[in-house]
Amino acid sequence: MKNLSAYIRDVPDFPRKGILFKDITLLIGTPDVFAESVRQMAARAAKPDAVVAIESRGFIFGAPLAQHWNVPFVPARKFGKLPGRTVRQVYSLEYGEDTLELHADALKPGWRVVVVDDLLATGGTAGATVGLVEQLGARVSTALFAVELRGLGGRERLAPTQVEALIAFDVKE
Ligand code: AMP
Repeated sequence: MKNLSAYIRDVPDFPRKGILFKDITLLIGTPDVFAESVRQMAARAAKPDAVVAIESRGFIFGAPLAQHWNVPFVPARKFGKLPGRTVRQVYSLEYGEDTLELHADALKPGWRVVVVDDLLATGGTAGATVGLVEQLGARVSTALFAVELRGLGGRERLAPTQVEALIAFDVKE
């Protein structure tokens, strides 16, 4: 099995000074490594009723996972992008806040959902998405990531939701 972490590139001071950006473009740009990553992510969660993927890099992993499980792909999008009636969740960023939305009819009450994003850092983004799923009466069985930055409290913030990540890096806050 390949060492997947070798396909994650560190980009210092992007998009702002002080941020060590974890770039996934080499991983998704290497077909067998991308395919293996999706297979390994799929193996870490039971088949759900739907995949809710977070705009925008969550879509890269969420779409093939939804196809793998043959379940609906549901996009969680930034405010104002979804045309239908929506539910909203406001969440904090390092500076200021942002809003994510789901179509109000995207999930049925009682569904078990896997939430997918490329990377877990503080857990604010994924936590807001869990909130959206719960607003629709569904629940998150697993929050699934390609990369986890350990030490930023993301896993703790998402508790008691089960968190799974393929590649973990330790970071200091
Ligand atoms: P958070 O809400 O703090 O867990 O941040 C997770 C979201 O921000 C994900 O959608 C990531 O794509 C992005 N993100 C946060 N920190 C990084 C980082 N160091 N490298 C790449 N993406 C990041």
